[in-house]
Amino acid sequence: MNLLLSKAHDILKTVFGFTSFREGQEAVIQHILDGHHTLAVMPTGGGKSLCYQVPGLVLDGTAIIISPLISLMKDQVDSLQANGVSAVFINSTLSHTEQRDILEEVRLGQYKFVYVAPERFESFEFIQAIKATHLSFIAFDEAHCISQWGHDFRPSYRSIIQNLQQLGTDCPLVALTATATDQVIYDIQSLLAIRPEYVTNTGFLRENLIFRVERGVKKSDFIKHYVSERQNDSGIIYAPTRKITDQVYTWLVTNGFKAARYHAGMSEQERIKSQDQFLQDDVTIMVATNAFGMGIDKSNVRYIIHYGIPMNIESYYQEAGRAGRDGEDSECILLFASSDVQLQKFLIEQSSLEASKKDQEYEKLHAMVQYGYTNQCLQRYILDYFSDPNELERCGTCSSCLKSEELEDVTKEAQMVMSCVKRMGERFGVAMTAKVLKGSSSQKLKEFGFAALSTYGLLSHYREADINTLIQQLIADGYLNVEHGKFPTIKLSKRSYPVLKGEEKVWIHARVQEVKRNNNYNEALFDYLRDLRKKLADQQGLPPYIVFSDATLKDFCRMVPLSKEEMLLVKGVGERKWEEYGEYFINGIQEFIDQHGPVQKVKTLPETSEFVIRKREPSTEGPSHLITYKLFEKRHSIDEIAKQRGMLKLTIENHLFKAAQEGHPLKWELFFTPDQEQLVLEKHGVLTEKKLKPLKEMLPEEISYTAIKAVLVKNGIM
Ligand code: ADP
Ligand code: MG
Repeated sequence: MNLLLSKAHDILKTVFGFTSFREGQEAVIQHILDGHHTLAVMPTGGGKSLCYQVPGLVLDGTAIIISPLISLMKDQVDSLQANGVSAVFINSTLSHTEQRDILEEVRLGQYKFVYVAPERFESFEFIQAIKATHLSFIAFDEAHCISQWGHDFRPSYRSIIQNLQQLGTDCPLVALTATATDQVIYDIQSLLAIRPEYVTNTGFLRENLIFRVERGVKKSDFIKHYVSERQNDSGIIYAPTRKITDQVYTWLVTNGFKAARYHAGMSEQERIKSQDQFLQDDVTIMVATNAFGMGIDKSNVRYIIHYGIPMNIESYYQEAGRAGRDGEDSECILLFASSDVQLQKFLIEQSSLEASKKDQEYEKLHAMVQYGYTNQCLQRYILDYFSDPNELERCGTCSSCLKSEELEDVTKEAQMVMSCVKRMGERFGVAMTAKVLKGSSSQKLKEFGFAALSTYGLLSHYREADINTLIQQLIADGYLNVEHGKFPTIKLSKRSYPVLKGEEKVWIHARVQEVKRNNNYNEALFDYLRDLRKKLADQQGLPPYIVFSDATLKDFCRMVPLSKEEMLLVKGVGERKWEEYGEYFINGIQEFIDQHGPVQKVKTLPETSEFVIRKREPSTEGPSHLITYKLFEKRHSIDEIAKQRGMLKLTIENHLFKAAQEGHPLKWELFFTPDQEQLVLEKHGVLTEKKLKPLKEMLPEEISYTAIKAVLVKNGIM
């Protein structure tokens, strides 16, 4: 590694507190350090800022960053300053004297980063000031604004080029964007004279986004359920019109949710206020038209719900992409009703576009509608749409991937849920019941004395969200009843009793999904630290996610740092943040432990919780299914392995079958008897539709799906 690059690694660690670069970052940084004009194309949240911030700190001189929006500049400057870096912005929010003073300081080389709007290059004083300054490079953030083909062309971006010539500087130009259509890339390259070998394009895939399409649900019910289970999470609900925005907003607020709204029909003041409330975590839900979002770098947006389909996949992906910038798992949900398509058609029809353009728009709309219906992996669908060469076949987490033909026996879990509902007196809702089953240490639960129930923590090895889903599915299938009202409560139903008595089994569509690694943190401690962060952020007048990102707080909960050394190991804690906030959070963690007892450390190497943009890297212990296989060979039971690995039994079984298919010996006698094997093979032979469900129906009750699959795998039929 050359000297500059190794300096870049040091800075990554000491200033930003990160252990490793994400895909593409190192290449981009290397190009800039080598003095080349450079283009970085990475998805939203991919970490483009770091690509220029790190070399800006390695190189001598001042970097000028061109940014299209005031809110973006402020955000970037805040977060650099929070990391102890000298940065400043110059824009129209400053008075003339302020601007002049800053320019004087720039001339004296007092800043590593100066953020400006493109128009600034039309100012004579500005040009004079930077002429007199030693520049490390000039970066164009959101560089697609330079291209007429981009969805957000700004003429002022383009005219910078001529003004740059006046400067007569040969410092590197750096362009960064998330828009990767060939036309835009070509345009940026030719305008800034960027050679192909200095273009780094990581593709579109966002591994931490979980895509879901909900067809034919009652939208208001869906949203109500969804947001009430995530009262602490930030999310955006995109509505297709101002009117619907107002309706959803009013309805949420009257139902007691903390929401703000945003659309072009509001005054600027109102809009700024809404936006601030959202950024500051004073409200958790933003209901908005597509007018909201450009320039919002809030990193802890946990979900994006589309109340209706947008006009095309480009818009959808851009809006949905505002979730999970911090790399933590986040959901992007499309509430799809076929009737919504009419509205979009109407909008195209009403537009002033010429006929051929309209046809293009219809075609794009069609692709969007297909997204609502496809059974294909949703991530793959999007990648295909953008002709992304990524090799991913299926993401395994989207709603298409999760729907599986297989059914899973959840009788035992259902019984646990039911007896828990009973023991809680049938007076509580889904969320509370799930918390009891999870064994959450929340205060409210203690007040009700639920920690003493025999059902407390029975499902502690499941994610709380999965327990929630299980309960919802039991409700949907009538195994539990709901009494509606302001606070809906769940009760046993007629169908509960046969299940409780062991007379009836419960099957649900299996979620063939491994529990995401990211979610193994203590949720109660997270809630506690989030409150502390909010207090601190309010005192400092900063958005909470700038103090520490959600990803960092979650790592606190996993690694439970109680000393400086431990805290510096957490990603997102650099030296400056340690000095400013370290002790405050250590005290917080200690207080939590004093009140609630010790918190178990979940060992994670820093890189396992980091998200990898391209394919999943094989873990150092080998592929997941072989880890399972090794445990199984050590005589662990499937139940134990599921618990230990925090995965569903079904996943564990599938791991074992996969290992068998690859030729690893398996003890088949644990799955079926020779008689059962023969019977399964016989019935399979006569079956016309070779699927599991009809096969299961032809066989005696006691032969489980697992047994059937095992027979098929052993005999090479599956
Ligand atoms: P983009 O501009 O590409 O949309 P940002 O630069 O705003 O994305 O980065 C998104 C988030 O990712 C930020 O919270 C940032 O701190 C985080 N991040 C960037 N690089 C890394 C890294 N190497 N390791 C961990 N987190 C990172
Ligand atoms: Mg950015």
